[in-house]
Amino acid sequence: MEKISVAVRFRPSAAGDPPADRHWRVQDKSISLVGPGSGVSFAFDHVFDPSYTNAMVYDLLIKSIIQAAVDGFNGTAFAYGQTSSGKTFTMSGSEEEPGIIPLAVEDVFRTTKMTTDREFLIRVSYMEIYNEEINDLLTLGSQKLPIHESLERGVFVAGLREEIVNSAEQVFELLKHGEANRHFGETNMNARSSRSHTIFRMVIESSKRNPMNLGDVSNTDAIRVSVLNLVDLAGSERIAKTGAGGVRLKEGKHINKSLMILGNVINKLSESGRQRGHIPYRDSKLTRILQPALGGNSKTSIICTVAPEEVHIEETRGTLQFASRAKRITNCAQVNEILTDAALLKRQKLEIEELRRKLQGSHSEILEQVILKQRNDMHKSELERERLAMELEEERKARETLELCIKEQQRKIENLSSLSISSYNTSISTQQKVNSTIMFDELSVSRSDVFRTPNFKAMADDFVVKRPSSFKTVDSNPIPENFDNTADKDLWMQLNKGCITDLDTLQMTPNMKHQSLPSLEMSREPSVDDEISSKRHHSLETDCGFDREQLEALREKCTIRERECSLLREEKASLVEALSLSKQDNEQFRAQKEELLKELNTEKQKMKELKEEIRQFSLAFHQREGLLTSIYTKSKAMMENLNASKVSIPEVCDS
Ligand code: ADP
Ligand code: MG
Repeated sequence: MEKISVAVRFRPSAAGDPPADRHWRVQDKSISLVGPGSGVSFAFDHVFDPSYTNAMVYDLLIKSIIQAAVDGFNGTAFAYGQTSSGKTFTMSGSEEEPGIIPLAVEDVFRTTKMTTDREFLIRVSYMEIYNEEINDLLTLGSQKLPIHESLERGVFVAGLREEIVNSAEQVFELLKHGEANRHFGETNMNARSSRSHTIFRMVIESSKRNPMNLGDVSNTDAIRVSVLNLVDLAGSERIAKTGAGGVRLKEGKHINKSLMILGNVINKLSESGRQRGHIPYRDSKLTRILQPALGGNSKTSIICTVAPEEVHIEETRGTLQFASRAKRITNCAQVNEILTDAALLKRQKLEIEELRRKLQGSHSEILEQVILKQRNDMHKSELERERLAMELEEERKARETLELCIKEQQRKIENLSSLSISSYNTSISTQQKVNSTIMFDELSVSRSDVFRTPNFKAMADDFVVKRPSSFKTVDSNPIPENFDNTADKDLWMQLNKGCITDLDTLQMTPNMKHQSLPSLEMSREPSVDDEISSKRHHSLETDCGFDREQLEALREKCTIRERECSLLREEKASLVEALSLSKQDNEQFRAQKEELLKELNTEKQKMKELKEEIRQFSLAFHQREGLLTSIYTKSKAMMENLNASKVSIPEVCDS
């Protein structure tokens, strides 16, 4: 159990606008209001004055959540405050001063790279809640997505695109893409951005890396799955102040509604356990998505941004109240480990690991890209299949309900026809049964009630029935011969399922005191009841026909869905095939590489030998050169000697 971390951040005051700091006093980590409402003091985990940069805010408040997310804890950080108080600046930042989202993304990849004993799979999604509708910011036109809940995935946005990523740069590209989609068709980007909530989500899956056998994923391997939500909320100012009308007013109402529900949820959570009661998470999409972050399984930080100008003093007071309530919320975060196939990592690991191992050392970036693309394609087709399966299930349920409805109506029709026959029979035998009584309070109501099996059953305890004597001779009589002609109530219920068609007598048990039936002589002519019955009969038959048509349409839809499902299965099979083909390509690449390496080695060897030859040759050359030089020197000396002796001989001869 740990408290949510809450910080208040003041943005610098607008140029020429004096700050309203005479209305409050900041002391270390608490803020006290001066003037009206003075004496109120709020304590927080941090109070950031305008000198704090985004990086400092990140280090002090968010970094620990990001590290924990890599370790398997869910994490959430969101910025709350009025428009222009610095929420987007805090969450996204600027080129010069990156905000929490880019800092967190870089930190996640840095930390996962350093965690060498674990294998990671990271996927991201980016959505917007605008006018209480969820739009996918990574897929243009993917709007009004529904929220679903399943045992394995918990609360999730169905159909939301999730992209598998392996670098911070890829995430930044996606975010840029998302921002472009967000503003598509908008004339006033700022107006829109401050009127919608955005949720950037990273799902981090990891498993222990087995250095001996990288491809081994045994069933007992626990996969950690954590969800990190980084949220930039819409402005929390009051509409009255902005003077909005038309579309803006509608937007404002939605923002106010979802922020009001967020406030309600936070108020409820800040109450102590006993008073708390129901927490209205389901009242808005925002609180439903943030449910684990608020009082659940998540480490959560809230940054409440404040505009320091005097004109905003009321909003500031509201923001501080929100922040101080949030400060009282306790969460219980735990590492999420799963052993089932719900973890995407587990399902993809075997196939991908093999490919990756082959790639190790080859540094083939293109092949890494191919793998990433195939991972994404596989993931997408899985998500699509999941969505279709869900639709199929819903349609199946609808069909079942319809079938039940049709059965019920058919039973009613049967009962109605039986009643008509019964009433006809009764009218014939009226003379003998003048004193017959029926237990219903009001004929018109009670007769139709009879057709509702449960009501009828409830009444069955109170009477017994006598079978018509004529039934003894009828072959198809479902009642065994050896029963006497007074059926007990259980047998009656069992055999006739609450139907009174076969009866020509209704006898009340003595302890029943009910209104008498009006004289049945009156029913000789077609009675008003008969007319009502036949009308009802007719309308039920029409309903039935309509339901049948609907059922038929649903069946057709189901068949189409099943066909789509099988197409997807085929697509998956072809993807798997493509994957195996690329594995083969890889194999070929590797073989080629090995061959090239071999050739390279041979060439290297040859070169070595040649070098050796050259070395020896030059050695011999130098030796020869030395020898020749010495011969040359010697012969030169001899020549000189010879010349000298040539000169001296004639002199000798002359003398
Ligand atoms: P919000 O998202 O709450 O509507 P913004 O983040 O868009 O508000 O901030 C409004 C303006 O104030 C922007 O121009 C932004 O650059 C500026 N700003 C907000 N906070 C800071 C800050 N801490 N330092 C510098 N400029 C800020
Ligand atoms: Mg903003």
